[in-house]
Amino acid sequence: MYKEPYSFNLKRYMEPERFERFKEYAQTLDSPVLIIDLDIVEAKYNELKDSFANLQIYYAVKANPMNEIIHLLDRLGANFDVASSYELRHLLNLGISPERISYGNTIKKAKDIRFFYEQGVQIFVTDSENDLKKIAENAPGSKVYFRLLTEGSGADWPLSRKFGAHPDMIYSLILQAVELGLEPWGVSFHVGSQQRDIGQWDDAIARCKYIFDAALEEGIELKMINLGGGYPANYVDPTFSFQEYSTEIQRFIFEDFGDHPPQLVMEPGRSLVADAGIIVAEVVNIATKAKNNLYKWVYLDVGKFNGLIETIDESIKFPIYFEREGLADEVILAGPTCDSMDIMYENYKYKMPDTTQPGDKVYIFTTGAYTQTYSSVNFNGFPPLKAVVLPKK
Ligand SMILES: *Cc1c(COP(=O)(O)O)cnc(C)c1O
Repeated sequence: MYKEPYSFNLKRYMEPERFERFKEYAQTLDSPVLIIDLDIVEAKYNELKDSFANLQIYYAVKANPMNEIIHLLDRLGANFDVASSYELRHLLNLGISPERISYGNTIKKAKDIRFFYEQGVQIFVTDSENDLKKIAENAPGSKVYFRLLTEGSGADWPLSRKFGAHPDMIYSLILQAVELGLEPWGVSFHVGSQQRDIGQWDDAIARCKYIFDAALEEGIELKMINLGGGYPANYVDPTFSFQEYSTEIQRFIFEDFGDHPPQLVMEPGRSLVADAGIIVAEVVNIATKAKNNLYKWVYLDVGKFNGLIETIDESIKFPIYFEREGLADEVILAGPTCDSMDIMYENYKYKMPDTTQPGDKVYIFTTGAYTQTYSSVNFNGFPPLKAVVLPKK
């Protein structure tokens, strides 16, 4: 069978000099490990901020809650979107002011709402009547924003159906919020994570406009649109740049709202931190299952249960780099546990140099988001993925 020489477009994912620093630091660490370069997080934050005329950023903490990332974003002036009292405690312990925190989960217990309120959090999302009543009772007078249902199509990691409500439902919740003594602030949506179709924001913004107009007819002036997350990270499948997303989204807003746009909020997670991380892993074994099998099985020390859960349905295709030179074999990639679900890629064939040996290092790029926190707790005894910060130059 004809084989091409193995190649990997490193420059597409990172400057080679920077990658050298990751490699050097990895030599001092046990595998597998996630290494985060805070300079990249900072650059991403600034790139996003600078691409918009007037944007309040609420970092979606769930993407990567490492202390160093929270401290960095705090210093850069970010706000924070959290989803549980655990995340809230984490941020308060790090000295984040409650005025800069929103409770962005539509699924919350009354006692948690009360806890947020007592700690000084003033902004709550909602998408249902029961939840709204809980907020009115346990966080009286707070600012609320209303989450619109979106389809999530076009996203590599959709968040559809579970969250949000139809515009007519949102409208009646807004009226009810006023009656309950809450302050309706605006409307939010999330078009799905790693959303590669920018047009999805157009539809959602148009629905926001409809809701703004309907509320205004009742004398209620909404002031904010929360554009959610969905901005891309640099995986195998290509995307537009932040600037192209922002330019288009601001055009959509101008089309609907003209020269008097509402306050714009965004809750980026993936797009701020994913590109900043590399998981340094190791090839544990390479197996050929039958003499006439086309594809080798390659088992890594990282898999679905210790960091790579977003490979479910091969949704997210992480760039994976093997270091040797050789001809390219197409391989099936699997994790180290005794669960047969722990296969990362079987349909989409990754390339690996045919000279690769068990014990070789493997570099998995764009793994700064939704990896460490998605790790299982000691399944098969494998610990959750460790994460460290790349030392400054
Ligand atoms: C997860 C989440 C985000 C972050 O989404 P990304 O696509 O990672 O940027 C933003 N808002 C809410 C409500 C979320 O649940």
